[in-house]
Amino acid sequence: MKVELVPALTDNYMYLLIDPDTREAAVVDPAQPQKVVDVAKKQGVKLTTVLTTHHHWDHAGGNEKLVKLVPGLKVYGGDDRIGALTTKVTHLSTLQVGSLSIKCLSTPCHTSGHICYFVTNPGSSEPAAVFTGDTLFVAGCGKFYEGTADEMYRALLEVLGRLPPDTRVYCGHEYTVNNLKFARHVEPHNPAIHEKLAWAKEKHRCGEPTVPSTIAEEFTYNPFMRVREKSVQEHAGESDPVTTMRAIRKEKDQFKLPRD
Ligand SMILES: [Zn+2]
Repeated sequence: MKVELVPALTDNYMYLLIDPDTREAAVVDPAQPQKVVDVAKKQGVKLTTVLTTHHHWDHAGGNEKLVKLVPGLKVYGGDDRIGALTTKVTHLSTLQVGSLSIKCLSTPCHTSGHICYFVTNPGSSEPAAVFTGDTLFVAGCGKFYEGTADEMYRALLEVLGRLPPDTRVYCGHEYTVNNLKFARHVEPHNPAIHEKLAWAKEKHRCGEPTVPSTIAEEFTYNPFMRVREKSVQEHAGESDPVTTMRAIRKEKDQFKLPRD
């Protein structure tokens, strides 16, 4: 499979997911529809599918216009608030884009209808990919607008955390540097955080994206994936992963970002 990253708005990412065998493509969260059409044309692919992670305008707000620009598109999502939806999916729904297999993973919390899309190519040994929207970011997670710490624990540790460790993680926003500054505040002695932060700052300086990461990597520096670790629990003053999740999310919501 090929994943073409397309920046949108201020810090959003849209993605073109391409099956190289059939040249069929899906787009994840096409917030800027004309840009998507232009990239699809440049890549020489046939856009057939929209994968919507959640209903927020900076992810789903381009759906209506895109279906006008590209008639016949199938639009998938897990929430009735998503514009131009043609197929509502639930946990473990499956679909195909060319020869690529896509499994829908329900991860309610940021929004109640949030879906992550797990993609494999059955005929190949290449690593899988997962599009995580505003559930899992590189080194962070989305705000709990419509859910609880218990739900985010399930989403990050029991759903996404059980995917193959080498699964590539493609998230909805470029928040990596700021997320790692909070991660460093939580675990000042974790070398994986310091290394990733130095790397992400350099990427940022060059105007390059910090996605994808991998599930295995996230377990080394993402505090919300590390709520079972003693060091994170001690920072939160808790001894249980779910209460730790609740505490560090609350802390991050009020965290004042250091300049460096
Ligand atoms: Zn959102």
